[in-house]
Formats: sequence, C-alpha cells, structure tokens
Amino acid sequence: MPEELDRSGRTQHVLIMGWDGVRDDILRTARTPHLDALAGRGFLSTVRVHDANPTISGPVWSTMATGVYREQHGVHDNDFRGNAFGTHPDVLTRVREARPGATTFAAGAWAPLVEEASGGPLFAGGGYRPALPAGAEDGPLDLVAAMDEAVMSRVARELRHRDHTVVFAYAVLPDIVGHTEGVTDRYRSAIEICDEQLGVLLAAIDARPAREREDWTVIALTDHGHRDEGHHGGDSDEERLAWIAAAGPGIATRETAVDHADVLPHVLQALGLPADETLTGVPFGMRTA
Ligand SMILES: [Zn+2]
Repeated sequence: MPEELDRSGRTQHVLIMGWDGVRDDILRTARTPHLDALAGRGFLSTVRVHDANPTISGPVWSTMATGVYREQHGVHDNDFRGNAFGTHPDVLTRVREARPGATTFAAGAWAPLVEEASGGPLFAGGGYRPALPAGAEDGPLDLVAAMDEAVMSRVARELRHRDHTVVFAYAVLPDIVGHTEGVTDRYRSAIEICDEQLGVLLAAIDARPAREREDWTVIALTDHGHRDEGHHGGDSDEERLAWIAAAGPGIATRETAVDHADVLPHVLQALGLPADETLTGVPFGMRTA
C-alpha cells in the first residue's frame, strides 16, 4: 500500500519546547532521559548560533519563530521594539493564516514572547504567561521555577484536551540560574527539570483520545549557552554552541546539520504547508553540511 494511503486520515501536529540558555556540552552531562528518547527517535544535534545573530535570547528565539535572522526580523537584543514581525510573522501565526480553523498555543514566563511588553509579543496571537506566584519568602530562583511549572502544567492541559496544530512551550529556569550563579550543579539541575517537564508534555500527548490517528513532530531546543561564570552574548563556544533535538514523520534517526532558522520551514513541511522565498532555512535533514 502506498505510504500516502497508509497515512491518510492522520492529523499532523507539532510541539516546540524551548529551554533557554542550555549550553550544549553541559546538556550532554545532564540526566535527560526524555530528551535522550526523543533523540533516539530522531536526532540531537549541536547548533552553532549563526553569525548573523548574537548569542542573545531575543534575536535567536525570533529566528526560531520567524525563520529569518536579526537583520530581517529586526530584533537585535532583548528589546523587541522595532521588530519586523509584520513582514516576517511567527510560525504559529503563519500556520493559523495558512489553515483557517487551526488553533495554536504559546506559553512562557518571559513576557515579550507572549505579551505586549518590550515590543512583544513575538507570537502575534499572544499566549499564556503565569502571574508571579505567591510566596515572596522563596528565593527568586524558586519563583522562576514555579512560573515554569505553571507554564508546563497549562501546556500539558492544552495538549491533552485541545486540538491545537502547533504548541510552543518555553522554560526559562536554566538561563536564570546561569545568570545568577554560573554553570553550577544547580544549572545542571535546572536542565534536568526541563527534561522532566518534556516528559510531562509527551505524556499529555500520549494520553490524547485520538492519539492513534495523530502524528506529532516534537522539537526541543535552546537558544544559546552560557560562560562558566554565567552570562552570554559573546562569541565563545560556550555561548555559541546550542542544540536542537527533534523527532517525527520524515525525520531520519541520525544526527544532522541544523540551524535555528530551520525550525519554521520544518514545521511548515510537517504540516504539509508551503514555504516561501522569504525563508532562509530549510527543513531538517536538508542541509549538506
Ligand atoms: Zn536565552
């Protein structure tokens, strides 16, 4: 039976999970069973943040979301004012516009991703950002951890009970720990918490009533690394070396050259939507080097 017939009637969905500021070499030493399993079904590849971007969250997440670099999307640092998202819309907006009736969901504790703050939102439809939790007696890192937890439990509910075509979930704890105390045991623990949260999101997908008739492409990635003492923005390998992991229909089980600009083209391809000439990236597996 031709493959197209075999797959007829299946619906295509995408989960993108961002782990902010997770240095590639430290990721490899952390205990990340869920990410390892994802990589086993697809790939986990080191990504050198493209020279067109600085190793700063705003420009790199904007590249992931829009498929172009900072000269095109207009985000040069963590101030999103002056963005060109009108010309280069984010992936969730593109999917909703290309497929009337499709819904998407974005969530994260960093305001400009999902709210009108600092020139945001990156995702034009906005999204969920938890309120600062009660518990001012906790340290600031505990507050950040609680916000990430609130993000992930909301995303898990959306994944389990709604029929979104694309979902973006964002965790900020590793980056905040890196800025607070550098690449420490707690930084590695923050990475391991992200992995546990990935496991929760994957379990929510597997619990969907129609799971047997669905294909899910799952992409997990970071935007940049951190220097040993914390902080980023420079050109050292510790800051430039990021990573992308993904698995899903059409993704080969081998390490492959990928770039942050490839996420959007891959999502479009996974959903059977056309790319256009404004995109600089290519679907996963299409790069030769
Ligand atoms: Zn970042």
